[in-house]
Amino acid sequence: MGSGPFVDQPRGFDLLSLPGLRRLARWKYARLLFQLPLLALALFVIVDGLTGRQVAPRNVATTAVWLHYRGLVVIALAMFGNAFCAACPLMLTRGLSRRLQRLLPRPLAWPRALRSKWLVIGLLILFFLAYELLDLWASPWLTAWLAIGYFGAALAVDTLFPAGTFCRYVCPLGNFNFALAAASPTQVTAVDPDVCRACVHKPCLHGRESHASAPAEGRAAFVPLAEVVNANGSGYFPGCETGLFVPTITSNMDCTFCFNCVRACPYDNVALTVRAPGRELSRQPWARRGRLAVLALGVLLTYWGVMNALAMITPFYQAAAWLSDLLGTRDEAVLLGAFYLAVTLVGVATTLGASWLADRAGGARSSAMAAFRRWGYVVVALGFSFWAAHYVFHFLTGALSIVPVFQHFFEYRGLPADPNWRLAQMVPTRWLFPIQAVIAAIYSSVALFVAARIARRDFGRRRWVLALWPMLLYVLLFTALQLVILAQPMEMRGTVLGPLP
Ligand code: SF4
Ligand code: SF4
Repeated sequence: MGSGPFVDQPRGFDLLSLPGLRRLARWKYARLLFQLPLLALALFVIVDGLTGRQVAPRNVATTAVWLHYRGLVVIALAMFGNAFCAACPLMLTRGLSRRLQRLLPRPLAWPRALRSKWLVIGLLILFFLAYELLDLWASPWLTAWLAIGYFGAALAVDTLFPAGTFCRYVCPLGNFNFALAAASPTQVTAVDPDVCRACVHKPCLHGRESHASAPAEGRAAFVPLAEVVNANGSGYFPGCETGLFVPTITSNMDCTFCFNCVRACPYDNVALTVRAPGRELSRQPWARRGRLAVLALGVLLTYWGVMNALAMITPFYQAAAWLSDLLGTRDEAVLLGAFYLAVTLVGVATTLGASWLADRAGGARSSAMAAFRRWGYVVVALGFSFWAAHYVFHFLTGALSIVPVFQHFFEYRGLPADPNWRLAQMVPTRWLFPIQAVIAAIYSSVALFVAARIARRDFGRRRWVLALWPMLLYVLLFTALQLVILAQPMEMRGTVLGPLP
């Protein structure tokens, strides 16, 4: 095997080289440190959701989950990376699932047919439909049960199947984060690929055991302490539970930022590298990791993001009334299903069409599907733009309400607290649309950058501009549509046929 990198990884600044950060990432309890606050928040969500006042804007469950959590997820993805998977409290069920697993002869194998993102895609659409039909955003009680169900599902899946199965193949939230983390400015990489070449056991992937005196437990390859150069030498260190091998990582897909790899690597050879937000998407990142299903997940999320915002504006209610008359039904599930289907079909058709046109314009005779595999990443960047602008809007309109909502939690239970309900919005209303427009402009530029890089890569100096124009048009039209939707006043949802009075 030759020298040089295994794959094309970014070679920017290593964030772990900042004072104290590598030491923190290597610390056995680093993840726990970040999980505990979110666990505490989850407990507040469950307690207030089940036993608190069932008024959405006054309950920790509905405000923390539907306002703060979602806003902070996209802000973290844009500024840093998949911080919320890193701090995911669901993974604290691991200790229990490992114990329960010992009662089984051995973990079951996750069915081969489900080793893709198709199940996640199905669960995501079910979640989006349930969100609208059950008004999850308005029900503290249902939100609490959603959290409980989530903990139960993580425990059950990771008990019956190998660790990491839930994150990689089941969790809709995690996969939402994985897909959008394609536009994040950081990625796990190998510091020196040659050190990885000489590394026999690949502990970043498989884990390692190193003990001073105790015998090996057989949980992972034994690496003698004399070989271990980093400070966390002794003990058992699990490897990557979602099956990523550090020197071959080209994407944030499936990376939970758990930093098991940092702790397991005996040679301190893992970096958290800063990169341009469009870098990953311009390099066909998912061609080797999940292929079509992963790209479909990214593109579908884009259009379901459009639908999620559409369902909050007045023209949508007018369209729903028209459709209701046309179909002769007021059944919300039917109407909403029809809208989701229509938006999905339009999204897929326009993406396939623009991709096919771009290939033809560039002189390639490839099928629409092959063109989609080339250009679909441009749409994923637009998806990030839409979700980020939409969720940041909600976050900015209500972020400070977390203070009175928590005060109310204690007041409701008879403790001395005086909620200040005037605290809510973080910025003046007139700033909200400009902020969303700036986000749209930034990530539309990222999408254009991705399109230009793909065109240069695949169509050469003579034809790349020709290949680019259909995608250029696509990005501009999508951005215009995004701005039109975001410029509408957002109604508090009621039913598909109209907001609550
Ligand atoms: S354990 Fe470290 S040195 Fe070995 S392959 Fe993984 S990152 Fe490279
Ligand atoms: S162990 Fe795997 S999932 Fe965790 S940070 Fe490393 S590459 Fe990402």
